[in-house]
Amino acid sequence: MPDIGLLFSEKNFEYDVYTLVKAFYPQAEIMIAYEGEEPFAREPEIRMSVCGTDDSFVFTIAPEGKEAVVRTKAVPSGAGRADAKNILKQLVYTALRDHSGIELPWGDLTGIRPVKIPMSMLEQGMSNPEIAKKMRETYFTSPKKTALAIAVANREKDLLDKTDLKGGYSLYVGIPFCPSICLYCSFGSHPIDRFGKMVDPYLQALHKELENTAAIMAGRKLTCIYIGGGTPTSLDAGQLDRLLSLIEEKFPMKDVLEFTVEAGRPDTITEDKLYVMLAHGVSRISVNPQTMNQKTLDLIGRKHTVEQVGEAFAMAREAGFENINMDLIAGLPGEGTEEVKATLEKIEKLRPDGLTVHSLALKRSSRLNYLKDEYAGISFRNSEEVMDSVQYSAGMMGMQPYYLYRQKNIAGNLENVGYAREGCFGIYNILIMEEKQTIMAAGSAAISKYVSDDGRIERTANVKDIYNYTERIDEMIERKETAVRDYLK
Ligand code: SF4
Repeated sequence: MPDIGLLFSEKNFEYDVYTLVKAFYPQAEIMIAYEGEEPFAREPEIRMSVCGTDDSFVFTIAPEGKEAVVRTKAVPSGAGRADAKNILKQLVYTALRDHSGIELPWGDLTGIRPVKIPMSMLEQGMSNPEIAKKMRETYFTSPKKTALAIAVANREKDLLDKTDLKGGYSLYVGIPFCPSICLYCSFGSHPIDRFGKMVDPYLQALHKELENTAAIMAGRKLTCIYIGGGTPTSLDAGQLDRLLSLIEEKFPMKDVLEFTVEAGRPDTITEDKLYVMLAHGVSRISVNPQTMNQKTLDLIGRKHTVEQVGEAFAMAREAGFENINMDLIAGLPGEGTEEVKATLEKIEKLRPDGLTVHSLALKRSSRLNYLKDEYAGISFRNSEEVMDSVQYSAGMMGMQPYYLYRQKNIAGNLENVGYAREGCFGIYNILIMEEKQTIMAAGSAAISKYVSDDGRIERTANVKDIYNYTERIDEMIERKETAVRDYLK
């Protein structure tokens, strides 16, 4: 992959342009410079430049030793910042598309919530064909991705319209412990065998934070509860029981539509934990294989077997869970369409109620990123073919897509999609994506999101480190109290 030098005439929209160039050249090193400031650290193989004037943008691609391509696009007078950004992205996208011969499935959309666009068009009263036309013309999204985004937007809107969100909130609780740390993990989870001593102090601080959250949100309706992490079922049955009892006792459970616990790793699921969850009203769990290929499971450090996934799933069904989601990752090391299809065949036999597929995202803080040289010979590819297989398989299991988002550095520049059967859609997932309701989050690294009546969104973040979390819990509680007072009058 070539080194690319990206020169800007001014500091404006540089992140949008950088992300677009990166989407076309994911392996390339991209150097950024500004006119009149420090030049590139070394001479790039391809120079690109963005120049903005009052009434136009000029984008130039100059490969070393070849003739430069210069493209210009006018900015109509009176165009706002959002329109100007769209015009620049269209200019850069079409120039890079023509230069590289590559069409990106999501066109020039670089944000993590592509569904927000059809969603806002639906809210303006536009029809699906009108939205499709507008998306294709404005953002160059492929017909498949356009259809997917519109289908998800319609389902989300339908579900949200039926949900009474006014004045209510949802609750997230983070348990940052796992049986072992997966190679691609960027959640800052802790292996429970090494950090076992921290579990009780952590839970003590968490209980305090939850009690306070219940108190400051008193009088408001609770819509969804989501316990994630980490792997919440890394806790033993007693610890889990105490946590769920506290939630049940302190929070208003009457109107809760969905109570999810990410059981996640099958090697943490036991009969007694399943009954504890059922006894406290947990309505939805996730049993996450990520892949049903043993070789890959071993490689990514999951430390459980394919058989354990089937056993944990059967145990949960037997116990009485009627909404079980399974998570898969597309683009795992060494896996292509054949491997994913083999996984899907095994999943189909289990017949889960939801299937969430994530495209592998190479996060800076993951071990996979630190060790990437060690895995240099192994492919991490995702493709539309893989995502199509998942969509087909989900359809065969009677599921529909209901939420979708993208991440930075996502394999194949694709997306994460949640599918579920009617009645099993994960409402909390939609709330997180659509930012239509306040989410009070407790636990280390948890981020609370306050949505005020006028739609304004503010956030407060807890510290990431679990030692810091236990020591500084009062400070975080105070921060949340102030935020609720200031943003949710
Ligand atoms: S199960 Fe999830 S949170 Fe735990 S180590 Fe693996 S990726 Fe991280």
